[in-house]
Amino acid sequence: MTEFPGDLVMLTWTDYVGIARSRPVPRNTLSDRMKYGQGWAKAGQALTPFEDIAENPWGPVAEVRQVPDPTTELRLDHWADTPAFHLILCDSINQDGSVWDCCARGALKKILDIYQSELGLTVQSTFEQELVYSAADFTPGTPFSVNALRAAAHYAAQVTEALNLAGIEPLAFEPEYGVGQMEYSCKPVKGISGADRAVIAREIVREVARLSGGKATLSPKPAPDAVGNGTHIHLSFLDNRGKPALYDKDREGEVSELGGHFAAGVIRHIDSILAFTAPSPVSYLRLVPHHWAAGYNVYGLQNREAALRICPSPERNISKRGNGLNFEFRPADVTANPYLSLAALLHAGLEGIREKLEPPEMVNSEPDDISKSEKKRLGLKRLPRSLDETLTALKKDKKAMNWFPVELTESYISVKLAEIALATDEDDAATCERYRNAY
Ligand code: GLU
Ligand code: MG
Repeated sequence: MTEFPGDLVMLTWTDYVGIARSRPVPRNTLSDRMKYGQGWAKAGQALTPFEDIAENPWGPVAEVRQVPDPTTELRLDHWADTPAFHLILCDSINQDGSVWDCCARGALKKILDIYQSELGLTVQSTFEQELVYSAADFTPGTPFSVNALRAAAHYAAQVTEALNLAGIEPLAFEPEYGVGQMEYSCKPVKGISGADRAVIAREIVREVARLSGGKATLSPKPAPDAVGNGTHIHLSFLDNRGKPALYDKDREGEVSELGGHFAAGVIRHIDSILAFTAPSPVSYLRLVPHHWAAGYNVYGLQNREAALRICPSPERNISKRGNGLNFEFRPADVTANPYLSLAALLHAGLEGIREKLEPPEMVNSEPDDISKSEKKRLGLKRLPRSLDETLTALKKDKKAMNWFPVELTESYISVKLAEIALATDEDDAATCERYRNAY
């Protein structure tokens, strides 16, 4: 560890396009900033991932305060000759102390509270992330091989160390299928921390790559012919007694009645959910059948082509088996805001629970290969093929248009339209390159 007297603390929040933005302050002034944070022009929420700002209702005057949540403070200072990575996550707060309607973290907190107060459920989540590592002295190895991991052994070990020091509890760091592709997964955690950890982990894998002279891109499609990088969202619920609420050993797929209703809500609104989980033009280059990234509105047991996959527990002891079972939502990627992604899923699922919707029939095979008539019987549909199609679906979905405050939904759509406009008349390779650099 080297002391840097000019150390900065990054007051950080995540905007609509999933980018962690920051207004850093000198460390010696931090205590004065804890109460009211830093001012931030609301118009900043309309930034695209590039040097453009979408049309927005706010103009040059309207401001919020980005107020640090002290429970999220993280200081990593174990790297030699590198200023500490010191960060605190913020909530966007209005002048009167209330949470701004467009605060993504606030939007997730609201729905988490509803799950708690109305259903007695605590949400657990973790975001499993794929990325592509590159560096001048790095030659990628064969997919999934020891060779591939050892080719990036320093990078892998430093990421794991930093995630551990950050309290993010990594469970695996693995070579994946694509050239230079890797994946990390972390322990599920209760409440808002699932999304908080997703934000921090991403910055850590980028930071460690930077320190090694390399780069990590998490973009869903780094190039048109590259293997996609997914952000698979794992979630489960605990009831008031701390028991796993998705599990029922006597039901199909061992999914409880409640879990079935939740799944039905998610599948009903899947096109609208994608507006928040797969929200960029490049997201749709990834979401094609036969790529294990989800091409259909499918619910399935273990099925890697399913949009909502049931991941059963490896535990054989029946009394503990429920702890491992979780849902994995696969058509999500890093261009999404993790708070809004999880919130959208929870809103859709809540509808399923409230209306006691009949669970969708599980599809436990390659959906694209199912006959037309069987697809029809099962209600299988391709997911939207572009962001444009997704936004059209969202605008038609009255319920989904009310998941979040109007100010959020409308300004969010405006940013997404700006991203579509930037990619219009551009070939896929150029669009992929822009997103590869931004993410
Ligand atoms: N790379 C795939 C995706 O885009 C996921 C592969 C897997 O880990 O199952 O989601
Ligand atoms: Mg993977």
